Amino acid sequence: MSAHRAEDNDSHHFGHLTSGNDPSSTGAGSTPGSFARPAGIGTPYAFSSPDTPGMPEPSELTARDFLPPDWLVDDGSAVPPSGFQAATQLEHARLGTVTPEMVRVAGREGYLTPEQVCEEIAAGRLIIPANRIHLSYGLDPTGIGRAATTKINANLGASPVASGMEEEIAKLEWAVRWGADTAMDLSTGGNLDECREAIIRHATVPIGTVPIYSMIIGRSVEDLTHADILEEMEKQAKQGVDFFTIHAGLLREHIPYIKDRLIGIVSRGGSLLAKWMIHHGRQNPMYDLFDEICAIMREYDVAFSLGDGLRPGGLSDATDEAQMRELDTLGELTERAWAAGCQVMVEGPGHVPFDQIEYNMKYERRICHGAPFYVLGPLVTDIFPGYDHITSCIGATAAAYHGAAILCYVTPKEHLCLPKKEDVKQGCIAYKIAAHAADVALGIPGSRDSDDALTRARADLDWKEHIRLSFDPETARAYRDEDECPDEDYCSMCGRDWCAVRISREIEVVGPGERSEGV
Ligand code: SF4
Repeated sequence: MSAHRAEDNDSHHFGHLTSGNDPSSTGAGSTPGSFARPAGIGTPYAFSSPDTPGMPEPSELTARDFLPPDWLVDDGSAVPPSGFQAATQLEHARLGTVTPEMVRVAGREGYLTPEQVCEEIAAGRLIIPANRIHLSYGLDPTGIGRAATTKINANLGASPVASGMEEEIAKLEWAVRWGADTAMDLSTGGNLDECREAIIRHATVPIGTVPIYSMIIGRSVEDLTHADILEEMEKQAKQGVDFFTIHAGLLREHIPYIKDRLIGIVSRGGSLLAKWMIHHGRQNPMYDLFDEICAIMREYDVAFSLGDGLRPGGLSDATDEAQMRELDTLGELTERAWAAGCQVMVEGPGHVPFDQIEYNMKYERRICHGAPFYVLGPLVTDIFPGYDHITSCIGATAAAYHGAAILCYVTPKEHLCLPKKEDVKQGCIAYKIAAHAADVALGIPGSRDSDDALTRARADLDWKEHIRLSFDPETARAYRDEDECPDEDYCSMCGRDWCAVRISREIEVVGPGERSEGV
């Protein structure tokens, strides 16, 4: 054995870098482990990438610092006024009450205790979007926060020119089959109320909507009144929607910042509200009505998904003044929603060059005091229409590694047409890859166990097990069967005599002491 090899075997070159948790629950294999920070559950660093120099520090504040004005703090405990009835998971957590939903979320995560889930919710770093009406229909609660595994969202919904209710229900079931943790009904066509009702009653996953879409059916956005807005929100909350995208952070003062952008506003809700503000010469009604909206959402425990109406629509517009000013306002709204007892996550971009992703995640972590970040991709290049599930899941992996808690999928049809069933599958799989890759990198306990099981089957040339453990066994089987391989100890990629795995098995039979020099 050469001196170089001996040195490799005797030293731990990466010891000082591997402070993260081991993602294998049994310490399997020979990898030095996660290079992320220590797990840090209960702190702003729960499963966090090491900060590149220059990144914003986490906020020192949490949701505990933004209690309703009539609450007191006694010996570190939050004390509500007498007669107070908790309505939201956040309020229960503030009182130290572990709800059945927190127990269920801890059970699903496996490595979190119900008390840790409760603590993270009280800090505002984790949410359980669970409208009490939807819970009564059979919602299976899901936790969204960086202390939990990374979640993915699938967007559904009929447009005025394509699809219908039955097709959307089929897409919902299909999305859940392929791993969607939440789904958004973004319908803009057909009977919206009926479609939403059917989706909520079918869904075991949390359902989100963008209520402004329904508000402008049959009327132009300029005609929208404050009363219309509150009425629609009340209706959807009563129906059982678990989270609302509310674009309340796009202020009138931000609109001039879009003039030099290559592609202006690309959020549907954002563009509609900007049109309303310009027409009326008034502030964003969602901002002006924020306290009333909070009251409705608190009553049913609808979680906020604070919308990013000014997200960049191209690499050229990423991390610009418009986007960051809106994010600052989202930080203010996070504090106000917490003070009203509501659960909050914050939406993020969009189209972001790879090098800017960490800054975007860590700026949100600071400004929004660790509220879960819900990002759309981001796409890391703009020139691959037809493949944007890939361009965006590259960005999504980085986003989750640097702090995003939930990734909104992008399908191959993004920017081109309404996704169909197969596109939903492709989008979900791309995003399961992104979420899982980030979880392993962050050292989430047990996250690599499924990879290790498949690696063992691969090492054993056990094709049956290899395919059974695959995320998409049907596709893996179809590819395996494309070429005939009479024996089971190789595949057509290299052929029998060149099969490194088979040769490696032969070597292992010899035993390490008998290996020849230079193998
Ligand atoms: S033939 Fe090549 S690709 Fe196929 S199992 Fe063997 S080493 Fe892997």
